Order: sequence, then C-alpha cells, then structure tokens
Amino acid sequence: MLVTLHGAANEVTGSCYLVETGNCRVLIDCGLFQGSKHLERLNFIPASINAKKIDAVVLTHGHLDHCGRLPLLVKAGFKGRIYGTDGTLDIARLILMDAAKVQADDTDRENRKRVKAGQKPVKPLFTAADSERVFKLFHPLPYNKWISIAEHLKIDLIEAGHILGSSSVILVGDHNGGKRRLVFSGDLGQWNIPINRDPALLDTADAVFMESTYGGRNHPTYCDTVKELTDLIKEAVGKRGKILIPTFAVGRTQQLLYHLHEMFRLGEIKPFPIYLDSPMATAATEIYSRHTELLDPDVRDFFVGNNIYASLPSLKICTTALESQALNDVEGPCLIMAGAGMCDAGRILHHLRHNLSFPNTLVLIVGYQARESFGRQLLDGVNPVKIMGQTVFVRAKIVSVEGFSAHAGQSDLLRWIEPVARLKRARLILTHGEPHQLNELKYKLQDEFGVSPEIPSIGDTLEI
Ligand SMILES: [Zn+2]
Ligand SMILES: [Zn+2]
Repeated sequence: MLVTLHGAANEVTGSCYLVETGNCRVLIDCGLFQGSKHLERLNFIPASINAKKIDAVVLTHGHLDHCGRLPLLVKAGFKGRIYGTDGTLDIARLILMDAAKVQADDTDRENRKRVKAGQKPVKPLFTAADSERVFKLFHPLPYNKWISIAEHLKIDLIEAGHILGSSSVILVGDHNGGKRRLVFSGDLGQWNIPINRDPALLDTADAVFMESTYGGRNHPTYCDTVKELTDLIKEAVGKRGKILIPTFAVGRTQQLLYHLHEMFRLGEIKPFPIYLDSPMATAATEIYSRHTELLDPDVRDFFVGNNIYASLPSLKICTTALESQALNDVEGPCLIMAGAGMCDAGRILHHLRHNLSFPNTLVLIVGYQARESFGRQLLDGVNPVKIMGQTVFVRAKIVSVEGFSAHAGQSDLLRWIEPVARLKRARLILTHGEPHQLNELKYKLQDEFGVSPEIPSIGDTLEI
C-alpha cells in the first residue's frame, strides 16, 4: 500500500493521509493548516489527491486540523462517504459551521480594507453552504466493529481518548495479493483523567502513524493540576474578583465545568456564579450530554440530559451579545468562560478589556497559546496591551495552569505504542508534531525499544 502525507508532517496541523491500494484510494482525515500565514497557504486540495477518485474519507475526530479541508474536497468533486464515530461527526458539524462563520467575518473585514485600497475583494476558503454539502456525506460508524469502506479495504475505529468520539483507525487492505495492517493514531489523550475514556491499546501492525504533539515532554500530574486550579480559584474568590477563562469550546469547557462541580460538591469552595459566555461551548456541551455513552463512566451522570444545569445551579448561560455585555456590570466573585481559547477573537476580548486593569481579576490560561496569539502576550507579561483598539494597563493576575491537555504526554505515548514497539516488526512513523518533539520521541523510542522510527516530510509517499 502507498501512504502519502498531505499534512501534519514535521508540524502539528493539516492532518491528511492518502492511502492507495491497487483498487482504491481513501483519505484518513482532511484537516486544515492553522497557525501562520505560511501554513494557511497550504489550505487547498493538491491535484495529486484527485478528489473525484477518492472512494471514502475516515475522520479520526472533529477538530478543525483534522476535518477543515473537507469543504474544499467536496468542492473539488469528492462524492464518497465520510466516516467517523457519531460523536466525531456531531463535533465536526459544529466546528465546520463555526469555521465558515469565522471565515465570513474575516473576509468581510479584509474586504472593507481592500475596497478602501482599491484592491479586488477576496473570497472565503469555504462558506456555510459548502459545509452543509459535507454533512450530507457523513456516515456514522460504531467503535470496535470492522466495516468495509472500499474494495478489499476495511477499518476498525478504536478509542483514542482525546475528545468525545475520537478514534484511532486500524485499516486492513489488500495490495497485490498481500494483506497490510496500518494504524493511524489520530490525536491521543491522556490516561486516567476524567471526561474521556482511556485510549485503547494496539496489538499488532505493519505500520503505525503516530501523533507526537508532546513527544518531547510530560504534563504535570492531573491531580496537581486540579489542586492548582482549586487553589487559584479559592484565592480569587477570596478577593471577590472576576475569574476569566479563555476557553476552547470542545473538551476544555466540559472538563472545567466538571471540576467546578466537584469543587462545590466536595465543599472545597462555596458555589458562586459561573457564566458560560460562548454559544459554541454551550452547543459542544449539549453534544457531550447527548453522547454520555462515549464518556468516562465516572462522569456520565453529570453530563446526561440536563443534569449539568441541575448539578451546577450557579451556572448561567449567556446566549446573546447583550447578555455577554451585561456581565461588565456584574460584581465579583464570578467566573466567566468565553472564547476564543487563545484570546485572538470572540467575547473573551471585551471581558479582558473591561477587567485586566483590576488587581483582583484572575486570568486563568488553561490551554495552549500559540506564539503569535494575544494569550501568549498576556502570559509573557506584555504591559500595557492593546485590545479592540484600546490601550489597557494590566494589573490582573495572569496564570497558566498546565496539565489539562487533551494530548498524551511522552509517557502516555510510550504506553500506547509499547505493545507494538516490543514486537519490533512494525514501521513506526512519527507525525503531528513540531520537529523537536518528533526528534525527542524518536530518540526515546530508540532507547526504550530499540526501534528506528521514521519522520517523513509533507508530500512524502511511503510504500508499506
Ligand atoms: Zn485534536
Ligand atoms: Zn490534531
């Protein structure tokens, strides 16, 4: 079989593998490149993929860097089925509609500038209508069931523990009479943390394509992370301040809601007002409530039906922009969760503008902040900052709590690959990581298991 890497090679975003046998051609993921202008220029479907001749697409999970080029694939003539678990397809719907809206807003802003400069207007990468055409091809699959998706090609989706519905893909195909078993890890989660189930372990394979986002390091322990979060919130509540959490809608929001509930239930902190000021995070939470069968058994009761709202009576949902603005007049202590997760856009910006100058404000950074993001500036201590055209002096406490990552750290990655690596017969191919993370993981795998992992580049074709 031939596997060509059309993304997430020597970097994290744009996941897309083209798998070719003598009889058929399928894609595993079809993700968007994100993070810099240079990467965003790669957001097209290369002619060599030949969208009209792709038999099927399999999604490992619903994050944009794994599904965001699907509208482009469909525009280029793809008409086959798009497979993924139920949860993955629901999240992909939410994420693709949001991405279409963000692009429409960005394009409008850009075109206003271009009109003034006498330049031609630009078009968005894709629209909401393009996304809708993708959804018509969605075809949900259960976990742990072999399904034929093309001639002499079958797949089995196993739990990856990353976000709701996430899976690794085991693919078995015939090529020139020889059977090959390939594994695509997708993004892998941490073991023994609430919300998601643990990743499923592998048995055997001819080749494993493995994510390496945190190949070079481990996260702080989850227990320490939750304690740090609790202590910080306790301190801020004591000062009657506002706690602002820039949050990612899918996964992180639900994790925080669960831990806030636990803090109240255990009596660590007396309940105080929590505002979920993100329609997208509210919609993502509803998806979690609908699919509790895919969650860690310990948290199912909390998420099922409307239980979140019954268990967290101090939680209020802000739907409209007016409700969001009204939070400016609310007295502390209170906690506001709003997007975007890296503070580059969205409602969190007006909360930051309004509250950064108060010394009893706490800004809790609980997710990855890219190098050029506004969240990174805050963490780096830039002062004053410019928000929405206004200069604001920062007197708030800005703290990063690490350890809530949806990605496996190095030791979890080793745990996942160990059963296959010990057999020493599979090719290990490291993807979805920045170069130093890939290299660190490669050396660690060499040391631990005496294997020789490969690190391919974008556009490389491997024969397996
Ligand atoms: Zn992901
Ligand atoms: Zn990813």
